[in-house]
Amino acid sequence: MSYIASRLSVVKPSASMAASMAAKALRARGVDVIDLGLGEPDFPTPAHIVEAAYQAAKSGQTLYTAAPGTPEVREAVASKFRRENGLDYKAEDIVVANGAKQIIFNALMATLEDGDEAILPAPYFVSYPEMVKLLGGVPVTVECPETTGFKLTPSLLEKAITPKTKWLFLNMPGNPSGAVYSEAELKALGAVLAKHPYVLILSDEIYEHIIFDGRQFVSFGKACPELKDRTLIVNGVAKSYAMTGWRVGYAAGPAPFIKAMSTIQSQSVTSVCSIAQAATVAALNGPQDEVTRFREAFERRRDLVVEGIRRIDGLTLPPPDGAFYAYIGCGSLIGRKTPKGEVLTDDTAVANYLLTEGRVSSVPGAAYGLSPYFRISTATSDEVLTEAVARISAAVAQVE
Ligand code: PMP
Repeated sequence: MSYIASRLSVVKPSASMAASMAAKALRARGVDVIDLGLGEPDFPTPAHIVEAAYQAAKSGQTLYTAAPGTPEVREAVASKFRRENGLDYKAEDIVVANGAKQIIFNALMATLEDGDEAILPAPYFVSYPEMVKLLGGVPVTVECPETTGFKLTPSLLEKAITPKTKWLFLNMPGNPSGAVYSEAELKALGAVLAKHPYVLILSDEIYEHIIFDGRQFVSFGKACPELKDRTLIVNGVAKSYAMTGWRVGYAAGPAPFIKAMSTIQSQSVTSVCSIAQAATVAALNGPQDEVTRFREAFERRRDLVVEGIRRIDGLTLPPPDGAFYAYIGCGSLIGRKTPKGEVLTDDTAVANYLLTEGRVSSVPGAAYGLSPYFRISTATSDEVLTEAVARISAAVAQVE
């Protein structure tokens, strides 16, 4: 008899973490693998942010803080939303947590009853369905094909809503597709949501600054202010400021959400690390030039990868509008044979083949709810990306 709770039986470990582990295991055996499984900026955290953390630790900011965050960090987040997104939230409308992931987990824990549905436009961030299931909900995958730019449309949304719908998840720029919604597209989704007042909206905007070709990011909250009383805007410092390991995410939303999430936090993690909160204040209030520098580097890498992948016969890649991933179509490889005679039955087989023969780790589209694709992270140096594309190209060329 297992002593592990049954609620865990439906939950898979993170596919991107698994890809990264598989790459590490091969490396430990001496195989030279390029790991493009996990997505995190390869830049160091900007020096002024690290300095602020050091000063905070030295000056005694080393105690527990209030569960939803220090007054300073909540104020810094509120002014970020005003300055960058044109959203009017007060410090009391803000909560910080240990990463955007914990924000999402807390939001679901605070709201999901058994059997409640969460609409997940696919391809989606791998953790969404697993968190929903872990907390008793039912993930409802809505496949958003390449022809819609991997984006949810009003008619797809309308069809997915049932009396049991509790949440709609949106993520822009999207992981893994990089899709960015225009203001008009968000308003059109908002018009559908206006007809279903019991549906809550979680807008995950963690890649907001990693957006290309001169696009202007529009927050869901800005496009649909009439839905403010049921919208949770989720964001964090991980991607914009190269701070994945600091573990700070934040959200703005209606008072009942914030209160419930703070209660959960006070009885689970107490608070976010006090020093990481001080670093977040410096990140949000300080100079933003490194954010621009990171964005430019990610755009250059996007171009490099799009150009390289497009030259490979058998793969497709519409240029991502943001984030730091390439969601590569591999439909024309399915059903074909590797040099060892194994049939590539699905995108998981393709990703495995690319790992063993191409020595590049990627994550199969199955993990994101939309096949046949595989995702590579472009958050690594130009040299490594160039080599990875060459390896993928050589491996694909051998498929019969
Ligand atoms: N949302 C999305 C869409 C992500 O891709 C990620 C990280 N991969 C997260 C949330 C998690 O962010 P954090 O590191 O702040 O928990």
